[in-house]
Amino acid sequence: MATTPRMKITYSTLSADNEELQSAFDAALEHARASLGQSYPMIIGAERRNSDRTFEDRSPIDRSLVVSRFPLGTAGDVRDAIAAARAAYPGWRDTPWRDRLAIMRRAAELISERAFDYAALMALEVGKNRLEALGDVEEAADLLRYYSDEFEKADGFVKPMGSLSAAEKTRSVLRPYGVFAVISPFNFPMALAGGPAAGAMIAGNTVVLKPSSDAPLLGWKFGEALRDAGLPDGVFNLVTGPGETVGAELETNPGIDGMVFTGSYEVGMRLYRGFTQDYPRPIITEMGGKNPAIVMPSADLDEAAEGVMRSAFGYDGQKCSANARVYVHRDVARPFIDKLVERTRGIRTGDPTERDNWMGPVINQRALDKFTDAVATTRADGGTIEVGGDADASVGYYPTPTVVSGLPLDHRLFHDELFVPFLVVGEVDSLDQAMHEANDTAYGLTAGIFSRNDAEIRTFLDTIQAGVVYVNRRAGATTGAWPGIQSFGGWKGSGSSGKGGLGPYYVQQFLREQSQTIIGE
Ligand code: NAD
Repeated sequence: MATTPRMKITYSTLSADNEELQSAFDAALEHARASLGQSYPMIIGAERRNSDRTFEDRSPIDRSLVVSRFPLGTAGDVRDAIAAARAAYPGWRDTPWRDRLAIMRRAAELISERAFDYAALMALEVGKNRLEALGDVEEAADLLRYYSDEFEKADGFVKPMGSLSAAEKTRSVLRPYGVFAVISPFNFPMALAGGPAAGAMIAGNTVVLKPSSDAPLLGWKFGEALRDAGLPDGVFNLVTGPGETVGAELETNPGIDGMVFTGSYEVGMRLYRGFTQDYPRPIITEMGGKNPAIVMPSADLDEAAEGVMRSAFGYDGQKCSANARVYVHRDVARPFIDKLVERTRGIRTGDPTERDNWMGPVINQRALDKFTDAVATTRADGGTIEVGGDADASVGYYPTPTVVSGLPLDHRLFHDELFVPFLVVGEVDSLDQAMHEANDTAYGLTAGIFSRNDAEIRTFLDTIQAGVVYVNRRAGATTGAWPGIQSFGGWKGSGSSGKGGLGPYYVQQFLREQSQTIIGE
């Protein structure tokens, strides 16, 4: 394992010029490459379960690289994992919460110590660049810390209440539900497997995780850190395999008391409708986005172009918060587009494990097909490819960062989430029109505005229908969130709970209230 330099890593403090960081990553990468192709088991209670039937987790950087092999889990494996989680639940629930938090904080420290090793594997597994991969790992560690701190601040969610007589004492106690299923996406393979699992476990629930089949390894590594931190067997279980079988069993099995899903709108809404049958069970669905940025005439156009470029093309447009559409005021449209094109041309693409490459591949062939289809549709429907439009699938899945203009504002490319580095720019005549277009979508995840006009900024903040919003942000028009700083959750078709991950109201969602009135205590 490579030595990790002691430094606080966040997305904003990471710097490509930090030599200590870069050489630590080089060492970790060498180590990670040497470990490729291993087989990993599922985690079911104390058992490490293998199977004759496995699937390959291949790198989008280079299809010939098998990153890991995992069992093709079955419904029976899920049932066993649920049984293990149910058996572990009473012990975990009754563990004093300070002891639970101590384990979680120890796991956070282990993840930070191993950040470079985990990040190097992540870069290979999902094609993130070095800094994005390090950020994802550190975010997972910080989620464990932040949710633990919030639980502690609330004193374990036991609150003395009023009383109607001297003989009677009442308290409100938030208590866990039981077993939570966590279904995670490929794009933040540690933070979005680990964060929801951490929320559930800190609150006293046990967990069955099903990671994305495009990124099972980092979910497994999260489990490894938990085990090494001393988590009792059965509190965290992991079953790998397809959504259609493993995910479906988690959806329908009555042994699951609650669920957190992060992924696409289509799958999330299916689960949201299907999860509740005989009586309500909590389900948190964090879903997609088609995140808009608005650029007004008073904007600093360099700041706007930089912020849009970073959010549209960071991790290849594969962040749920990616900036996918821009509404720019007609008066400044051409100079804005020119600046954006210039910056986009400057993006270095290629193998993202190389330190100078900022953009890498998209996750799989399906994603690359979506990209080439969007380019073809733009051409067929009379749009202009301002920059990009090419793809190279010879080794991995590499699209070029693409900006298009000239499509009608009601075109489907302004509305459908693509999750690839493809940005549509439309011209508007007023802020009212921009707001109407920005809100005219099923999604409501993130949004941004560039303007120096206070009234415009106020209108934007008052009327935008999105859970995470940014004003004049050069570092990212619509992206960027950190535990304890930006809560991250969608409105409308982007999220069901109205309470963001990474924020102060998250852990409570894994708890239900019990009012306890006791006479003569
Ligand atoms: P996806 O919906 O394809 O898959 C997500 C998970 O669901 C995977 O583990 C997958 O195996 C599983 N799954 C698939 N079919 C299932 C079924 N029938 N039953 C149960 N589980 C099933 O999403 P993805 O491609 O991995 O991730 C990208 C999507 O996630 C984008 O839409 C993105 O916007 C969204 N996302 C949202 C957030 C957020 O916080 N709102 C964060 C990250 C990603």
